[in-house]
Amino acid sequence: MEILKVQHLSKTYGKGENQVNALKNVSFILEQGEFAAVVGESGSGKSTLLNCIGALDTPTAGSIYMDGKDLFSMKEEQRTIFRRRNIGFVFQSFQLVSELTVEQNIMFPILLDYRKPEQSAVNEILEVLGLKERRHHLPSQLSGGQQQRVAIGRALITRPKLILADEPTGNLDSKNSQDVIDLLVKASRHYQQTILMITHNNNLTASVDRVLRVSDGVLTDLGGKENEKLS
Ligand code: ADP
Ligand code: ADP
Repeated sequence: MEILKVQHLSKTYGKGENQVNALKNVSFILEQGEFAAVVGESGSGKSTLLNCIGALDTPTAGSIYMDGKDLFSMKEEQRTIFRRRNIGFVFQSFQLVSELTVEQNIMFPILLDYRKPEQSAVNEILEVLGLKERRHHLPSQLSGGQQQRVAIGRALITRPKLILADEPTGNLDSKNSQDVIDLLVKASRHYQQTILMITHNNNLTASVDRVLRVSDGVLTDLGGKENEKLS
């Protein structure tokens, strides 16, 4: 089942001499349960791509369909609600609420949506994350790797159609990075969760289903694990 369909997406910043064509006619499809990595040099357009898909930025041209729905044909208010329910975000800098416990951080998106969190769902996520004994701890009492696992739990709790991760391992050492990737792999297998992740770390792309390379705003699909075109 198609979860994400990006069609002829372009994004231009600035005008005249200052114009930057950050994305040029980008098209690709992600199926349910696919875990894809976006790689490319700094300034190539990776963040712009993720920001457009997450509706944090507006494309100049083209369309983004999430579960068949055209993101940018919605009214802004509608799009905000749609994003909250259907897209989970994981950032390089974790972005946890420092005053809330592990458990409260994980429940946060449900509360934002004026719903009541199911304790069983929270317990299951704490179990998967290996953070059951830490449920009442504050983020400041956790290691970086643990904090990022909480952020992944927060992205998973709403069972979003898509998880967008922008350099989720950028602040972690190699052991913690692999743990975070393993957790995302588990989410894609176990919950059939579709994941799109930016990474600079070529070692981590071995764990994903598909690699998309962005170079000067142009996207090339490098395909699956059997593909050794990565340098
Ligand atoms: P990275 O290479 O780690 O992705 P960047 O420096 O390319 O970091 O960009 C980080 C963010 O800063 C981008 O997502 C974008 O929103 C913003 N940004 C990048 N370049 C510019 C620019 N020329 N003008 C304004 N904002 C920019
Ligand atoms: P990456 O994430 O691959 O480092 P970005 O998507 O951040 O790349 O940036 C792609 C290009 O768009 C870069 O040339 C960057 O300077 C430019 N850019 C990004 N955000 C902005 C912005 N808000 N205003 C102007 N230029 C930007």
